[in-house]
Amino acid sequence: MSSKQKVFEYLDNNKGELVEFMKSLVRIPSINHTFGGDEKTVQDRLANSLRSLDFAEVEQFAVDAEQVRPNVVAVMRGEGGGKSLLFNGHMDVVPIAEPQKWHSDPFEPTQEGNKIYGRGTSDMKGGVSAAIWAMKAIKDCGISLRGDVLLQAVTGEESNEAEEIGTVQCLKRGYTADFAVVCEPSDLELHTASVGLFFFELIVEGKAVHISARNQVLFPQPAGVPSGPEVGVDAFKKSLPFVNYFYSLEEQWNHRWRDAVLGAGGSPGHDVQGVGLFTINPSFIDGGEYLGSVPAKVKLTYGVWYPDQLVKKEELWEEIRRGVEALASTDDFLRKNPPKLTVPVLQEWQGFHVPADHAGVRTMMGAIADVKECRAVLSGFRAVCDAAYLNKHGVPAVVFGPGSLSWSVHGENEYITVDSLVAAAKVYASMMMDWCQ
Ligand SMILES: [Zn+2]
Repeated sequence: MSSKQKVFEYLDNNKGELVEFMKSLVRIPSINHTFGGDEKTVQDRLANSLRSLDFAEVEQFAVDAEQVRPNVVAVMRGEGGGKSLLFNGHMDVVPIAEPQKWHSDPFEPTQEGNKIYGRGTSDMKGGVSAAIWAMKAIKDCGISLRGDVLLQAVTGEESNEAEEIGTVQCLKRGYTADFAVVCEPSDLELHTASVGLFFFELIVEGKAVHISARNQVLFPQPAGVPSGPEVGVDAFKKSLPFVNYFYSLEEQWNHRWRDAVLGAGGSPGHDVQGVGLFTINPSFIDGGEYLGSVPAKVKLTYGVWYPDQLVKKEELWEEIRRGVEALASTDDFLRKNPPKLTVPVLQEWQGFHVPADHAGVRTMMGAIADVKECRAVLSGFRAVCDAAYLNKHGVPAVVFGPGSLSWSVHGENEYITVDSLVAAAKVYASMMMDWCQ
């Protein structure tokens, strides 16, 4: 029996333990601290578990002032001379918006056949557990690797605090490697790219007037009686051309840029749809001041996903600015009272892109092909994650993990499957054996 087969068999035989390990982590609510939760208890537990699984080098450290947001890192030293590999995952989860919509307690994992329900199963205590069991399988099967294997289990991901709290702090502490696999849910596909994200805000102002004068806002009046903008201006109505403009821009951009991995957003057929290059999502529409007034102000907040390896965000900001300006110039009132555009606002995430011919990607494709439950598929990640920060800080990183973003991640009744957990663990082990030589 080859060493790979031996390791795969070990993982099949120990799937019950792997599942119980993940459940024990899901049972500890680890809602991101920035959203009012506790990230420390689960990390204390994880560090202890790793030590009791005989991982020789385990460190828990926090860089926040209160010391309540620790990261946990485990290192499996190789014999020397081989390439190193890093598994990265976050242990924080998002809050439960509507607990009554869950069919059971989100923090008491329930298993129905192949599915295990619970907050943080797919996103992403499943991925972290699979990486740990893959490392344990290599260790227990007595396989010697030449390169080091590291695990980073971080906090602060769901609040985009990789730089301040999580992943980047692990790198700064010296926990780095030649290649990284972020264990986020990927449907067992290999994501080598993702899109970036920024937000912008457009405030369109009108002129408030008593609701009873609305007819004068709308229609011309008899001679001598004021009407139109002299009386009042409906800010919501003035905002509609911009709303339509952003919808059309979303389509135009999708047709203007194409990418083999990310897909071609506008193409019909889900097989070639991919991530879709662009979306311009109306996240918030706030407007109106009083029940009895014509609305004087509307604020539109949009989130833009874009392929940052194909187009610079500054170019997009400029196009949005020019479009808004041009549209405003076609309206007498808006020319005098130009809408206020702020781009970017709130948050910004960058995407990542590792070339398909990168040695790490090629090795990973081979490692996946050796696991019979998997098909080596290259695709793009549909969200933002710490792979962007790893790549930004010089560690080529891809995403591969059990679970799926479409299995109610961030929603009600999030789940993962036992099969995908075991398959991912096999791929991780296979990758260690191929890469760390
Ligand atoms: Zn995640």
